[in-house]
Amino acid sequence: MDFYLGIDFGTSGARAVVIDESAHIQVQVRYPWLEVDSLVSSWQKALLTLLGQIPEQLRREIKAIAINGTSSTVLLCDANGNPVDTPLLYNDGRGSIVLNELRDIAPANHTVLSATSSLAKLRWMMQLPSFGEARYFLHQADWLGFLLHGQLGISDYHNALKLGYDVEKLQYPEWLENLQIPIQLPKVLPPGTVVGEVRPEISQQFLLPPDCFVCAGTTDSIAAFLASGAKSPGEAVTSLGSTLVLKLLSRTRVEDARYGIYSHRLGDLWLTGGASNTGGAVLREFFTDAELENLSREIDATKASELDYYPLLKVGERFPINDPNLPPRLTPRPNNPAEFLHGLLESIARIETQGYELLQKLGADSLNQVYTAGGGAKNPTWTAIRQRNLKVPVISSLNTEAAYGSALLAMGR
Ligand code: ADP
Repeated sequence: MDFYLGIDFGTSGARAVVIDESAHIQVQVRYPWLEVDSLVSSWQKALLTLLGQIPEQLRREIKAIAINGTSSTVLLCDANGNPVDTPLLYNDGRGSIVLNELRDIAPANHTVLSATSSLAKLRWMMQLPSFGEARYFLHQADWLGFLLHGQLGISDYHNALKLGYDVEKLQYPEWLENLQIPIQLPKVLPPGTVVGEVRPEISQQFLLPPDCFVCAGTTDSIAAFLASGAKSPGEAVTSLGSTLVLKLLSRTRVEDARYGIYSHRLGDLWLTGGASNTGGAVLREFFTDAELENLSREIDATKASELDYYPLLKVGERFPINDPNLPPRLTPRPNNPAEFLHGLLESIARIETQGYELLQKLGADSLNQVYTAGGGAKNPTWTAIRQRNLKVPVISSLNTEAAYGSALLAMGR
């Protein structure tokens, strides 16, 4: 039997999933992030601990491995792959001070023009004393892959998008040369491409086959998309977590910086989407999870609530309405809490529908099916309300674990 290993380095911990040739899960293991002195040593420890936790009989038949990291978590390494400084995490905004300089170089509204982009972080790191020792700039997934295959300077076009890599022409753009980056930018491969065999030391230590392949990885959110089961144009995944995130597979690339819309390449298709500030965090302001569950049962999902809210925690929205001054709208509030919840769920469903309409208006394929992930996915009343608004089938994701998506990537799905 051949097995495939996906490893997810997410925001709350690291996980590994082994699947068989039929994409059935054989084992899942996890490693929570603890208080640590050094990020890189904790990543390394997590990777090796996860490998060690996989039962030996599975390890002996792992054919390929793929790793996803958090998008725009980056680090500098020396010629031997040793980090020369602390990595910058996905949400680190120190790059804001170099944005003016990047605006002069990058095309208007480019995805690199954000304080947390990989390129802003790299430009910020260029001022550090440690930069003199650096030879390679890598993303978290690239470096973890290196620990397994031993090759430095390799990335994938999902991680490299926010570094400025041109995913349409499959090359770094000319404008990037104007930054005169004196170290090696990663060579960029399609996610899932075989980079090489696992290093002999790793193969011996963990009893992996010597010809076990390590593949180019991806980012956590794309791995979670892959896990959902969506694969044809018009299929989408809505994440109903603290915020509302939409992703729609399309044959056309859709970009609109005003709304924060951009597309990742997914083979011959494009994964386009946007993120709204509405979502479960607003529900949590008013209700406990138990109340959400109980009150939802009192709601008649076949009837539309007349309450027209725009549920936000604070002023400002980007997608599907671009208005930094948009105020939260949560009135009138009925005395009956189930009625109030109905209004909130209905309003978030309307915003979701409006989001998919905007993506289609900008050129994405017509929506035909929506998978759902996140805490709100387990609410059948909400699913029914959303289906009535979206007018397409709304189903649960096959799986919501990024590690499962990375395992599929390793399998070549
Ligand atoms: P994140 O990882 O973005 O913080 P999760 O995917 O864990 O979020 O989802 C948490 C959200 O799910 C919370 O904001 C909560 O309001 C929402 N949630 C939890 N249970 C329910 C429910 N039964 N119905 C609707 N929303 C729910």
